[in-house]
Amino acid sequence: MITDNHGRRVNYLRLAVTDRCNLRCFYCMPEDGLNWLSRAELMSYEEMLRSCALLVKMGIEKIRITGGEPFVRKDIMKLLSGLSKLDGLKELSMTTNGVLTAPHVAEMKALGIKSVNLSLDTLDANRFFTITRRDEFAKVMATLDELLKHDIEVKINAVVMDGKNTQDILPLVELTKDLPVSVRFIEEMPFNGDGASNRGLQWDYVRILDEIKDKFPGIQKLTDPAFSTSYNYDIPGHKGSVGIIAAYSRTFCGTCNRIRITPQGTLKNCLYDDGVLNIKDLMRSGLSDNEIEKNLLNAFNHREKNGWVAERMRVEKTGVHESMATIGG
Ligand code: SAM
Repeated sequence: MITDNHGRRVNYLRLAVTDRCNLRCFYCMPEDGLNWLSRAELMSYEEMLRSCALLVKMGIEKIRITGGEPFVRKDIMKLLSGLSKLDGLKELSMTTNGVLTAPHVAEMKALGIKSVNLSLDTLDANRFFTITRRDEFAKVMATLDELLKHDIEVKINAVVMDGKNTQDILPLVELTKDLPVSVRFIEEMPFNGDGASNRGLQWDYVRILDEIKDKFPGIQKLTDPAFSTSYNYDIPGHKGSVGIIAAYSRTFCGTCNRIRITPQGTLKNCLYDDGVLNIKDLMRSGLSDNEIEKNLLNAFNHREKNGWVAERMRVEKTGVHESMATIGG
């Protein structure tokens, strides 16, 4: 079991397998994309499996594969298959934009993937194009169908953006009437990859909830599962549920159980930090698993208290505004 220096249990790893993406969501990366990592900079699947096996042995119980877009990395199903066999791993899940996902859903189900986060900010094909700069709405909806057909739990993640998709909040909530999906609205975070300064958050979790309450006054708070990053709600008569993730307001750091590894192997103790070590470099320098474990334990013993402190430290040190595609969301 891993416990950090603030007494928080760490049992959840988000592993970003690539920085590349087939969408260009304006809040995530510039239209021309990023300076993509070279193959040598990326962790290989063997390195990912070795890191995950070690972390699972140490106490990680849940791994979520993310990106960039996981399905643009070649042979991603091979990695998933390897991870699904790790002894001690209780849950393997994915975050995807759904563009290339539908043909893989049956195999994902067979590997034991029970839950998928599908990013979808609007139910309007034109607005989808404006936000993502790609005409792929139909493929994402096909993935949603396929996931539901295979009885995979779906959480739809929608970033709420002032002036861009706030008219989608209620239609997305209405989707939960007939579909057993959890629609989670996410506060927009200052991670657009082009260094643009944050304009200040216009739609925080309180405003998002007020918007929903106006139309659905019967909405009821659910008990949130342990370590939940979302405030969860039920609307009587709806098959699905609604959640709000205060990703910018950072109300959940006190129970944070998650770490991240970026595609180039940087371990992040917090979404907002600058990275605390590079596990790929440790492996490539020939360290044994025991030595790497010591480095990891030392990193977990130096986690920042919350995302505000982590962000301050990062900006003081680097002044850099990252793209979420290099972190994994
Ligand atoms: N490509 C995959 C996808 O779209 O789900 C996984 C990676 S993506 C970076 C993970 C999540 O981060 C997505 O749900 C995306 O909407 C979210 N995200 C990216 N940039 C964000 C930002 N600036 N603020 C809030 N969420 C963001």
